[in-house]
Amino acid sequence: MAYIQFLGAAGVVTGSKHLINTNSDSSEKGGFQVLIDCGLFQGQKEWRERNWQDTPVPAKEIDAVILTHAHLDHSGWIPRLVKEGFRGPIYATPPTIDLCSILLPDSGHLQEEDAEFHNKHKSSKHCPALPLYTFDEAQDSLQYFKAVEVEETKQLCTQISFRYVRAAHILGSCMVEVALKTKGSDKKLLFTGDLGRVRNHGIAPGKVVNSGPTQGETADLLIMESTYGNRRHPAEDPRPQLATIIKETVQRGGTVIVPAFAVERTQKFLFMLKELMEAGQIPKIPVFCDSPMAIKAVEIFLKYTDEYSEETRELIRKCGSPLEWPAFTFASTPEESKKINASFYPAIIISSSGMATGGRILHHLAQRMPDPKNTILFIGFQAPGTRGHAIKNGAKEIRMFGMEIPVRAKVMALEQFSDHADPPEMLEWLHTFKSKPGKTYLVHGEPDASSSLRGMIAGELGWKVEVAEWMQKVWLP
Ligand SMILES: [Zn+2]
Repeated sequence: MAYIQFLGAAGVVTGSKHLINTNSDSSEKGGFQVLIDCGLFQGQKEWRERNWQDTPVPAKEIDAVILTHAHLDHSGWIPRLVKEGFRGPIYATPPTIDLCSILLPDSGHLQEEDAEFHNKHKSSKHCPALPLYTFDEAQDSLQYFKAVEVEETKQLCTQISFRYVRAAHILGSCMVEVALKTKGSDKKLLFTGDLGRVRNHGIAPGKVVNSGPTQGETADLLIMESTYGNRRHPAEDPRPQLATIIKETVQRGGTVIVPAFAVERTQKFLFMLKELMEAGQIPKIPVFCDSPMAIKAVEIFLKYTDEYSEETRELIRKCGSPLEWPAFTFASTPEESKKINASFYPAIIISSSGMATGGRILHHLAQRMPDPKNTILFIGFQAPGTRGHAIKNGAKEIRMFGMEIPVRAKVMALEQFSDHADPPEMLEWLHTFKSKPGKTYLVHGEPDASSSLRGMIAGELGWKVEVAEWMQKVWLP
């Protein structure tokens, strides 16, 4: 009998990994095994440690991976899967492949840096501490990627075919419709990956990718994300508030430090800054985009014009490429990054990682967090257990580079930048389904968020819905 097993993003927002096994009857490998997403666990140690566990089915016996999008919590375990012996195709849309080609090697680089740090400071119980995978191993895993266009049907074996439909979450992001032939009947499974905002620009201003998740779906089994299952996004435009935060920081002679994911979120934020500068609502101070991937991320972004929202298209038409905007500096090399550290005039620094778990943002935070003139501005989700989460929730000091660094800078957060649908948006999308799914499983949420959304879906739509548990198997008769 076929089954789905939730290997990650169950009871937590990271580590997305769902296994479809078409045949568990035989003790030998008989059926076809496919992973939907292959994400890294991030955040709390209890979950991160699971990055070191093998898959319940040996990696070399997994036949294929289908990726919903490039975020590391959906793609970041791929190099490890390949390291463990996986040799099958990894299907993804062309923008997702381009994005993974910068994100995965960067992730490998960060893993190596982490291991090196622990070895130098003897701060790991493992001796020597090893990286989960290296830059080279991540680079090597890219050879298995195979492009699949949106709405093209891809036959994987006699029992499974799949098709991508738009999720409107980030560039290249898609939901996966899986058609599965079982002995009993044909089944349609729908994996949402991460779901983007609805089509309404008024609700999600500054949205870069804005086609809206595909409507009118059907599914025997729906596997749906629930990141924002218990929180509504603020409905007001973030631009006036952002302008005030920047102006007040500049008046104090300080710098605004923005931890942001290098891809998508950073571009979205840059466009908003440019718009505010052009409108004269913020001063034209230097903007530093400090990421080894910064330039490549913008180049990839500019390549896929068909995914833009109208407002992005209009801004690029008016202002050209962000790489050529005066006052905007993109730092790729460590030397360029160090120059930013030497600048003491008011500026805006955008750097990753978005949850301050590693990367160049740590250097900027370590340098500028102790000074009350500065502002740390969060524009993205902060998973519990990350430094970002601790700073956002009022920690007085933060451990970085083996030292306790005091947090005296002003800490602010704007929640409107989210690329995830909130409950009213998710329900609006679910209302477009042509028929009730046989069963819905909620994944990719903290327990409170998932159970709150479960209640809303069951109450408002009367659907059968359950919160998925880690390692739970769902049998498909
Ligand atoms: Zn995502």
